Amino acid sequence: MKRALMVAALCVVVLAGAGWLFRAELATAAFARAVGAAMTADRIADLPAGLHLFVCGAGSPLPDPIRSGPCLAVIAGDRLFVVDAGSGGARNMQRLGISPGRIEALFVTHFHSDHIDGLGEMAMLRWTNGGWNTPLPVHAPAGIERVVAGFNRAYGQDFYYRVAHHGRDVVPPGGAGMEAQPFAMPEAGLPQVVWEEDGITVTAFRVAHHPVEPAVGYRFDYGGRSLVISGDTTAVAELVEVTRGVDLLAHEALASHLVGIMEDAARAAGQDRLAKILLDIPDYHATPVEAAEIAAAAGVGALLLYHIVPPLPLPGLRSAFLQGVDEVYSGPVTVARDGTLVSMPLDSNRIQHGRLR
Ligand SMILES: [Zn+2]
Ligand SMILES: [Zn+2]
Repeated sequence: MKRALMVAALCVVVLAGAGWLFRAELATAAFARAVGAAMTADRIADLPAGLHLFVCGAGSPLPDPIRSGPCLAVIAGDRLFVVDAGSGGARNMQRLGISPGRIEALFVTHFHSDHIDGLGEMAMLRWTNGGWNTPLPVHAPAGIERVVAGFNRAYGQDFYYRVAHHGRDVVPPGGAGMEAQPFAMPEAGLPQVVWEEDGITVTAFRVAHHPVEPAVGYRFDYGGRSLVISGDTTAVAELVEVTRGVDLLAHEALASHLVGIMEDAARAAGQDRLAKILLDIPDYHATPVEAAEIAAAAGVGALLLYHIVPPLPLPGLRSAFLQGVDEVYSGPVTVARDGTLVSMPLDSNRIQHGRLR
C-alpha cells in the first residue's frame, strides 16, 4: 500500500515536471483549439429568434474593471444595432463573439464624451470585420454631423493605410468611417420613429440631461417584444409613457449616497476640483430607486441598470447600490456588467438573463 502511494506520488511529480517543461507547447495547443472555436463561433446565430439586449459597456466615465464605457447592442432577429459607443465597447463585442462587422446602424443618445469616445474604433472594426462598402450609419439628433465629421477626419490617414495594406477587395474604401443620419429632436411627449425596416421599429424620445442637449433615449420593438434604453437622464415622467408595458427597461443609474462618500473623500484630500464635479453629477442622472419607480409605474417585465456609477469593487456594494429598489419594484433587477445578455424570445413571454464570457 505504502509502495503504491509512493509510485503514485512519483507519477504526479513526473507529470507535473513534464507539464512544466512543455508548458509552451501545451499552451500553444490550447491556444490553437480556442482560436479555432472562436473563428467558427456565431453568437448571434446561437440565440433564439427574438429581441436581445447585449451589454457591450455597462459603465460610465469612471474606470471600472468590469464595466466599460456605455454601449448597448440590440439584436432583433439576426440584425445587430448598437446604442452609444463608449470606450471598450467594440472590443467587448469582438471578444465575446458579437461581431462589430454585423452592425447595421448605430444610435447615439447624446454627445457626452463617454458615449461617443469609442465611435472611431466601432466604425473601424465594423469595416474591417464586415467588409462593408458603405460607411456606418450613425443616427442621432442634429449635431451628430459635427461629431462624425471630426472622427472621419481624425481617422483619414488610417483609412488610407488599411486599404493600402490589405487591398480594396478586403477593405472596400467606400466602407471606411461613418455617415451621420441626423433627426430633429423629438418634442416633449412626442416620441418619433427614426428607423423602421422588416418589422423592426426604433423610436427616439426626449429625456432630461440638462445642460446636455439634445439628449434622447430609444425604444426598440420587434415581433411583439420591446425594450427601452433610457440614455442619460434624470427620472422623467415621459419615460413612463414610452416605457409602458415593455418587456425590458435598461435605465442608467447613479447611487448618489455612494457618490457623496467619494465627494467627501475628495474634499478631505484637498481635491476641490474633483469634489465639485462629484457634487454636480448626481443632478443630471437617476438613482437606482428612481429608475425602479419608473419601471414600477410603467409595469415593465424587467429592469436592467447600466451606466453604473460609482464602480462597485466590493461584494456588498451591489446591495448598497440597490438599497430601497425592492421596496418600489418587484420584478427582476439586473445590475449590468460587460457581457450581460437579456433575451426575449418570440415564442414566449419569457425574459431570460445571462452573460456572455
Ligand atoms: Zn454618460
Ligand atoms: Zn451624459
